[in-house]
Amino acid sequence: MSSMLVVGSVAFDTLHIAGKSHERVLGGSATYASIAASYFTPVQLVGVVGRDFPDDAVQLLRSKQIDLAGLEVVDGETFHWEGRYADDFTSRETIRTDLNVFADFEPKIPASFNDAPFVMLGNIDPGLQMQVLDQIKKPKMVLVDTMNLWIDIRQDALDDLLKRVDVLVLNDEEARQYTGEHNLVCAGKALQQKGPHTVIIKKGEHGAILFQDDQELFSVPALPLDEVNDPTGAGDTFAGALLGYLAKNDDISHEAMRRAIVYGTVVASYCVQGVSTERVAKMTNDEIDARYAWMNRMVSF
Ligand code: AMP
Repeated sequence: MSSMLVVGSVAFDTLHIAGKSHERVLGGSATYASIAASYFTPVQLVGVVGRDFPDDAVQLLRSKQIDLAGLEVVDGETFHWEGRYADDFTSRETIRTDLNVFADFEPKIPASFNDAPFVMLGNIDPGLQMQVLDQIKKPKMVLVDTMNLWIDIRQDALDDLLKRVDVLVLNDEEARQYTGEHNLVCAGKALQQKGPHTVIIKKGEHGAILFQDDQELFSVPALPLDEVNDPTGAGDTFAGALLGYLAKNDDISHEAMRRAIVYGTVVASYCVQGVSTERVAKMTNDEIDARYAWMNRMVSF
């Protein structure tokens, strides 16, 4: 079993979903990814919060055995993101992004973390993601997650970063925006040309496609759910569980990656059923196994 380093945002989110508002609930790319990965392997988190970050959130992360030696607590307020979802969940709008303590964040990787073999660069400014890579010894696998904001305003930094990462995870809209290719197969191949040997394009409720080296494409559907309450963090939990599974088995083969994508899909399916991190934090390994078996039955013919 190998440890996994997660860097990203630790946040308060204000969410507007189906006519209801959820004020300042726990969120952030690193929060979701760490919780998801913790079901598979020991996790080390690097991020920053303000003095307003509540003790029960710290306790929640600790209860998942997440090593918080890299979580800085500084004067100021915690990063705050506010978003509103369309009623059918097919799109969301960012209403505000208050960087707060993130504005001056310079990730510092504790010496005890810098040889982590599996590294997830969760969604933050690609310049900060690069600073993390500069501080760690040669990992076995580096996965990077990003979002439309950075493709819009930091494309050069993202291009530089991609030359140094193994796995890129992004959604279909971002893949199209980044490459200018409408066809997702063409977009996936164009993204591989930018550096990562592996590209995973998420398609929300339609699943995900894996492009790896010149292997045959692999595509999984999402699990069909009759109840979705909050899609926030689905992408981060998908990526966190996926890399956590690879780290657990210390296996980066193509076959392991196919299984990892199924685990990512399963964990994301729990995430979207609760608001904020509540459901994914309460998940059990038996529940993960049950939906993994469901996926297996669902796609076999
Ligand atoms: P996802 O739904 O997987 O895209 O992730 C949503 C999470 O990303 C939320 O919990 C937010 O706190 C976090 N987030 C939103 N915008 C940013 C940003 N600009 N930088 C870092 N994290 C962000």
